Amino acid sequence: MKYIGAHVSASGGVEQAVTRAVEIGANAFALFTKNQRQWRAAPLSGETIDNFKAACEQHHFTPGQILPHDSYLINLGHPVDEALEKSRDAFIDEMARCQQLGLSLLNFHPGSHLKQISEEACLARIAESINIALAKTEGVTAVIENTAGQGSNLGFRFEHLAAIIDGVEDKSRVGVCIDTCHAFAAGYDLRTEADCEKTFAEFERIVGFRYLRGMHLNDAKSAFGSRVDRHNSLGEGNIGHTPFSWLMRDPRFDGIPLILETINPDIWAEEIAWLRAQQQEEAVV
Ligand SMILES: [Zn+2]
Ligand SMILES: [Zn+2]
Repeated sequence: MKYIGAHVSASGGVEQAVTRAVEIGANAFALFTKNQRQWRAAPLSGETIDNFKAACEQHHFTPGQILPHDSYLINLGHPVDEALEKSRDAFIDEMARCQQLGLSLLNFHPGSHLKQISEEACLARIAESINIALAKTEGVTAVIENTAGQGSNLGFRFEHLAAIIDGVEDKSRVGVCIDTCHAFAAGYDLRTEADCEKTFAEFERIVGFRYLRGMHLNDAKSAFGSRVDRHNSLGEGNIGHTPFSWLMRDPRFDGIPLILETINPDIWAEEIAWLRAQQQEEAVV
């Protein structure tokens, strides 16, 4: 079963995200559980938690279909100890919010070395940050997203993801999310089916599908290998329709949230319907 959705707005309360997902015909969704551009947020009230859980139950969303995303401010590989501490505290709070909401995944960007420490040192800091957060929470898996490699962001090579996983003690609670736009911008081609086979064979060899907990389905405004992170609607960018159709017919992407972060929310319902249709093509064949 393919779980297909989008990163919907949670404005007005996290339970509103569920309604918005239903409105676009999604059976998966992503959300921020707090304002993604602020460090602090009011704790979730008991009422909010109850409403969110009730909405999920009513619309048949299980935790495995929901991929919350953390704040963009957090840098789990920060080279400066005080700033690292602040990020770690904020990340633990994000994990705790997911746990309170009954969610099992938290998607985040690994971190940046800010040209002050080596890649290796930064990756080690990120792994240690995850270890600390896992020790302070229960039931939530830390899902590392690959990046486009803009600025000093790490996570743009599959080897970075593997190095972080290697440093995490509890392998049962660490996973990855592959963003197609980020992969393409980082130099992993996806334009033809042969490119997709090659890129995901490399993913399997370096990281392993057993760690795949979600996908972000985005076309790219940015050029191949440009290390620039600019999303586009499916089929309207430099990647094209091919990998999205290919993914829908590959069972290795079953049972995980497949999330649109494409730039035009007005056509999310159409994009989801198109993705579902690709999947049905095979059923007919
Ligand atoms: Zn992201
Ligand atoms: Zn993404």
